[in-house]
Amino acid sequence: MATRKLYDEDAYAREFDATVVEVHETEKDGEKYYDVILDRTLFFPEEGGQTCDRGNLRLGGLVPAEIEEEISNRPQAWNVEDVQIDGENKIHHILDQPIDIGTRVHGEIDWNHRFSNMQQHTGEHIFSGIVHAKKGYANVGFHLSDSVVTMDYDGELTDEEIQQIEYEANEAIIKNIPVHCYYPELEALERMDYRSKIQIDGAVRIVEISGVDCCACCAPHVKTTAEVGMLKVIGHQRYKGGIRLTILCGFRALRDYDRVSGIATMASQELSVSQDALVDAVLKQKEDMANLKVALGEANTRVMNQELSQVDLEAENVVLFSENVPNLVMRNAVNTLMEKHSGYAAVFNLDGNRYQFIIGSKERDARELSTLLREKYGAKGGGSSDMVQGSMEKETPMMEKEIRELFNNGIS
Ligand SMILES: [Zn+2]
Repeated sequence: MATRKLYDEDAYAREFDATVVEVHETEKDGEKYYDVILDRTLFFPEEGGQTCDRGNLRLGGLVPAEIEEEISNRPQAWNVEDVQIDGENKIHHILDQPIDIGTRVHGEIDWNHRFSNMQQHTGEHIFSGIVHAKKGYANVGFHLSDSVVTMDYDGELTDEEIQQIEYEANEAIIKNIPVHCYYPELEALERMDYRSKIQIDGAVRIVEISGVDCCACCAPHVKTTAEVGMLKVIGHQRYKGGIRLTILCGFRALRDYDRVSGIATMASQELSVSQDALVDAVLKQKEDMANLKVALGEANTRVMNQELSQVDLEAENVVLFSENVPNLVMRNAVNTLMEKHSGYAAVFNLDGNRYQFIIGSKERDARELSTLLREKYGAKGGGSSDMVQGSMEKETPMMEKEIRELFNNGIS
């Protein structure tokens, strides 16, 4: 028998009494769970892109004195870990401990979690209703998790259109329009113009927000649009030929505003500018940084050229170390060294915590040395027998000394 959906009758009820009618032992990731069906429930299952309600069950009703002792060492309370609905409209509660068929339970849902879902979900209706009226697009995807709400439409929206629809959605919120959920007679339903994501068998539950939206939907919603609080679009991207929008409603939007404003406050303190001047200040820093990098590269190039002039001409193998030198400068240095030394000529350039290296050789196979570096230090890279290029992590401060010794002692 289908489970009676108490959340359908009253979206604001937080507690309920029910009887266990079925129990199935189940296993997930090696842990035992109990799949429990009640005769009625307030727990909304995972359905239509929305995550399920959370909460708990505890032993309900008076326990007859004669069995009080007998049950005292059995579980008295259960966490509801997951809630699913099957094709027969039975709602499955996944519990962490065993329970007997016939047990009377008192259930309580996590109200803050549920109310947040009701805010997000009703906000989605308002936004999708306006999108549908203005552009004729259908909502082809909806995902409501504990951290994110996304909606997919089968057409594109410009930034200006998104801004305009967001504004109109908030106007609809302010107008405090009743959100009416009901099951119309089949005849009335056939005459109705409503949005629907899927073909529905049996009674169709309609959620109507007068002048804004009319949609088939099974989830709990807030009573009036005002309870959505506010709706903010926080991101969008092209998605399957249409658009995916990320929104926040109600307290989630407030929390996000808190977060963003915290970041802005901190950044403006760090850069010692007002929040309005933040973007300009960041762009200026970026430009300064790029200029400094060029200047540093030039200075390091001069240092390298100086070292180049001091290399022992008798040495068979030579290696230079540098920092933040452009690749072209490294390459030129290797070419110069290769002319004067018959063995390996190399430049190791430190960039952050990684060495970029170029190794060349007129008479030997540079790939052999790069293989040695791969075996010894996990270096990556490749090239031809006369020149290889690669990189490797600077794992210890001793690495420069080790590599210098490797070159000085002759590489077999
Ligand atoms: Zn809905």
